[in-house]
Amino acid sequence: MRRTIYGAEHDAFRETAREFLTKEVVPQFPDWEAAGLVPREVFTRIGELGVLGIQVPEEYGGAGIDSFLYSAVWAEETAGAYVNLGGLSVHLNVVLPYFLAYCDEEQKRRWLPGLASGELMTSIAMTEPGTGSDLAAMTTSAEKRGDHFVLNGAKTFITGGINADLVIVVARTSPGENRRGGLSLLVVEGDMAGFTRGRNLDKIGLRTQDTAELFFDDVRVPVGNLLGEEAKAFDYLTGNLPQERLGIAVGAQAAAEAALTTTLEYVQERSAFGTTVSSFQNTKFELASCATDVEAGRSMLDRALAEHDAGELSPADAAKVKIFCTELQGRVIDRCLQLHGGYGYIREYPIGRLYADARVSRIYGGTTEVLKTIISKSLGL
Ligand SMILES: Cc1cc2nc3c(=O)[nH]c(=O)nc-3n(C[C@H](O)[C@H](O)[C@H](O)COP(=O)(O)OP(=O)(O)OC[C@H]3O[C@@H](n4cnc5c(N)ncnc54)[C@H](O)[C@@H]3O)c2cc1C
Repeated sequence: MRRTIYGAEHDAFRETAREFLTKEVVPQFPDWEAAGLVPREVFTRIGELGVLGIQVPEEYGGAGIDSFLYSAVWAEETAGAYVNLGGLSVHLNVVLPYFLAYCDEEQKRRWLPGLASGELMTSIAMTEPGTGSDLAAMTTSAEKRGDHFVLNGAKTFITGGINADLVIVVARTSPGENRRGGLSLLVVEGDMAGFTRGRNLDKIGLRTQDTAELFFDDVRVPVGNLLGEEAKAFDYLTGNLPQERLGIAVGAQAAAEAALTTTLEYVQERSAFGTTVSSFQNTKFELASCATDVEAGRSMLDRALAEHDAGELSPADAAKVKIFCTELQGRVIDRCLQLHGGYGYIREYPIGRLYADARVSRIYGGTTEVLKTIISKSLGL
């Protein structure tokens, strides 16, 4: 079915993305997978292309375009090239919106130009060793002493945590308050004393994405690095999660489409019993089912993207889209891998990597189960 959300300007951007990924990412990608992260300088190069600054206002070095559609195009092309750019999508889709929405004027001048150019890469640290889904249970603390906070605690699973120059840390600044009320966002700079990075975690997929443990030991964070108002973090996080979830859905949908594309090629090349694998009725029916699934996901996603750009996507609807597209991703990629036989299990083939990368989509950014609690509340349950 014809897509209607993109215009000529998105098509032109798509071409730029495709050319960059083909020439400058695909050839290096196996080395980056082996190293466990994308080299830092790649992000500055992506900044030069203008990708990181699309939503940043012009006076701070960006293009000032208030639309998520370019990020969606970028994610689609990245998946279509069978690569992954580490913490880039978290920087762009998850962290940047906090800086755009909550920086005061001085902070905008200090940080936005670097965020747009790729000189400053970012992470967001919510999850702790003892708590993930239950955000309000976090124990990382920040005690205000004069003109700074003293930050103590540990975070884990932080995407981009090795490469990040700035980390938004969610910390408890008012211990006596109710669970949700006392949390604040503090921007920790990479070279602050007492801030250390632990392991780059050894994941089953997403090998180029650095996912790190972070430790804060009496880190003195200036009051000028508080993002937004003190004790308002829970509301800020709740407000931003729909875009985070939509971003994950875009990646999941694009990965399912990439799986279908590579499988269509594979089954027409591979022979068995004197004919091609594509000639078996089972293969045709499996791929017909996958194509139908993909079409349904795309329709739902495109509608959500349009609603998001119009400022109308509700948290419950973002949750529905994330569940649908990530479950679809798992289903489609599993069926496509099966049609590859043994080669599907080898990482050299795109389908093997897509399979390993897919599993986490149903976990991060809100597990499927936690998202179902949000949807059921919207149903009055
Ligand atoms: C690769 C990767 C990247 C990540 N990147 C980041 C990042 O950049 N920043 C960050 O802060 N975090 C990040 N995370 C953490 C991620 O968001 C959490 O792992 C996720 O929110 C789940 O939390 P948890 O792992 O503590 O699981 P838990 O909360 O312990 O959940 C365990 C199980 O219990 C279920 N469960 C929990 N609560 C309920 C409930 N109320 N009802 C029913 N079932 C429930 C869950 O669905 C799950 O099945 C990342 C994780 C991974 C794996």
